[in-house]
Amino acid sequence: MGKSTNNGRSMKWRIVFMFFVIVFVTMAVSGVFILYKFGNFQTRPSVEDCRDIAEAVSSSLPVSGSQSLEESGDALSQAVSEWQLGPEYDMYIIDSGNTIISSTTGNTGKSAEKILDGSVIKKATDESSAYRKHDLKSGIPVLDYAVPLRNSGGTVLGTLYLRADMSSPAKTLHQAFMIYLQAMAAALLLAVILALIFTGTITRPVNKLTRRAEEMAGGDLSEDIEVSADGEIGRLASSFNTMRLEIKSRMEEITDEKSKLETILKYMADGLAAVDMDGRIIHINAAARAFLNITDEEAETITFSDILSRLGKNDIMDGIKKTTSDEVISEVDDYGGRSLFIRYARIVDETGSDRGVIMLMQDITEREKLDRMQKDFVANVSHELRTPITTIKSYTETLMGGDIDPQTESSFLKVIDDEAERMSHLVTDLLQLSKLDSHRQKLNLEKIDINTLLQICVKKVRLMARAKDQDIACVFNEDTRIDIMADRDMMQQVVLNILTNAIKYTPDGGRIIVDSSREGDAARFMIQDNGIGISRDDLSRIFERFYRADKARSRAMGGTGLGLSIAKNIVEAHNGTIIMESEEGAGTTVTVMLPLAGNMLSTVRHTDKTKPGGR
Ligand code: ADP
Repeated sequence: MGKSTNNGRSMKWRIVFMFFVIVFVTMAVSGVFILYKFGNFQTRPSVEDCRDIAEAVSSSLPVSGSQSLEESGDALSQAVSEWQLGPEYDMYIIDSGNTIISSTTGNTGKSAEKILDGSVIKKATDESSAYRKHDLKSGIPVLDYAVPLRNSGGTVLGTLYLRADMSSPAKTLHQAFMIYLQAMAAALLLAVILALIFTGTITRPVNKLTRRAEEMAGGDLSEDIEVSADGEIGRLASSFNTMRLEIKSRMEEITDEKSKLETILKYMADGLAAVDMDGRIIHINAAARAFLNITDEEAETITFSDILSRLGKNDIMDGIKKTTSDEVISEVDDYGGRSLFIRYARIVDETGSDRGVIMLMQDITEREKLDRMQKDFVANVSHELRTPITTIKSYTETLMGGDIDPQTESSFLKVIDDEAERMSHLVTDLLQLSKLDSHRQKLNLEKIDINTLLQICVKKVRLMARAKDQDIACVFNEDTRIDIMADRDMMQQVVLNILTNAIKYTPDGGRIIVDSSREGDAARFMIQDNGIGISRDDLSRIFERFYRADKARSRAMGGTGLGLSIAKNIVEAHNGTIIMESEEGAGTTVTVMLPLAGNMLSTVRHTDKTKPGGR
């Protein structure tokens, strides 16, 4: 605002100055011209005036019949005094001996050369007339004019000398000059006043226009410029208004696009950071901040090199600059326990010059984990199948070789049958897991009593336990019902898997306790053994597919390493949880919590396949 006023002021004063200069130059030029002309006009008495006077006076003097001027001295003095020439003229009659014999100044008898200019007298005597303009010693400008005085015989008797005082025209000229200077000062003053008045009419709309233009430049595009002036300023104002509308609509478009982009960047799962050529962060979205553990305060000050050093990398700006505009540098970096797939690309403007770098980050931790799990799974399945197949193949080859006694043959066939059984078991487990994974396994939910289910399962494995001389004790109250909504077969499989594990991994003569209770809204059952237990490291991975803590024993027992993961998947499909607690050498406790009937959610949650242990 202040700036526009200053501009307005300077413009006003510039116009006033222009007026001043124009008037001054005009007045000066016209003044010089007028004064020059006036000077010429005012240089009277002129040479012509003096000549006219001299000729008139000389012809009127009574010298025609004289032989010398002395003889008619009185008559001459009389004649000279009769001439009323005006105060600026002095007249002298000088004889041939250069003595003043008559004058209007009373210098009679004096030598003419002392008072007058001898050269003019001499020249006038030699020629018909002579004159000279010069300043006297006193500084008075004079015009001397002399003519010879002759008798009727043509003899030069003396000289008529006229001296005209020229100081009067010089004074007049000086006065005229002073008057002119005053007039010029008055004219300049008037010009300045008028200029001040007139410039207001020009500068006011220009100031208004400038002020609004500055407001527009500052981002205020709300109002039109109202300028009532016509002509150029009016046209300029209307152009400004058109421009305002254009800029406003462009700005709205840009703001719209910007907010869309910001929303996308904010909610996109991938991290993005844009960096300028000096390594300053132009934008970093929430995902990138989360990946790189950047707090809100840090986000204000963090630089590209800080980010790179977090990732344990050196400056790669030079490397990026060497890439072509559609090339990207991509790599996988580990940070904060995550695997980040990071791509760097140049940001170039339309001229092709570098404006910065864009950094895109994708969290591929889960993807890598899934890849690894998939590979491990394939390797495990192949491995699990290869062992029985190799066994079956070697036994069948031996059998086909013949020459085997019937007893050995039957034991070989038993081995083949066992291995085939193991494969069938494995394939059944895998199929079930696959169904649970793909949610194809339909749950036939019905109200079942946990205690009845536990008793049925215990009954089924009692023989197996007895073979190992183990005792299975059901310590829950058999008369109490703890109802849950569950798929009976599946829940039975969960209990059997846990129970058979307890038997398998508990030495002969061990003790297995089966208990159940209500825990708030949940039903809880627990199977505890005093078997070999599981180490802390193994325990954390026990629900993974094919994971076996005790490989040799598991294999010997015909285990597939899938029993616990199937149990976990089934329990979670029923919105329940399964926990395994164990101490190596002391025993293991498996606790399952399931919602009580009535508390079961109508939609059954399926296992999250990406969760560790949820496989
Ligand atoms: P498996 O078919 O090998 O029994 P599971 O998934 O049922 O497969 O069990 C995985 C591993 O957990 C077993 O190989 C075993 O090492 C360990 N395990 C399971 N239950 C027990 C238990 N009650 N006591 C000790 N180890 C157990």
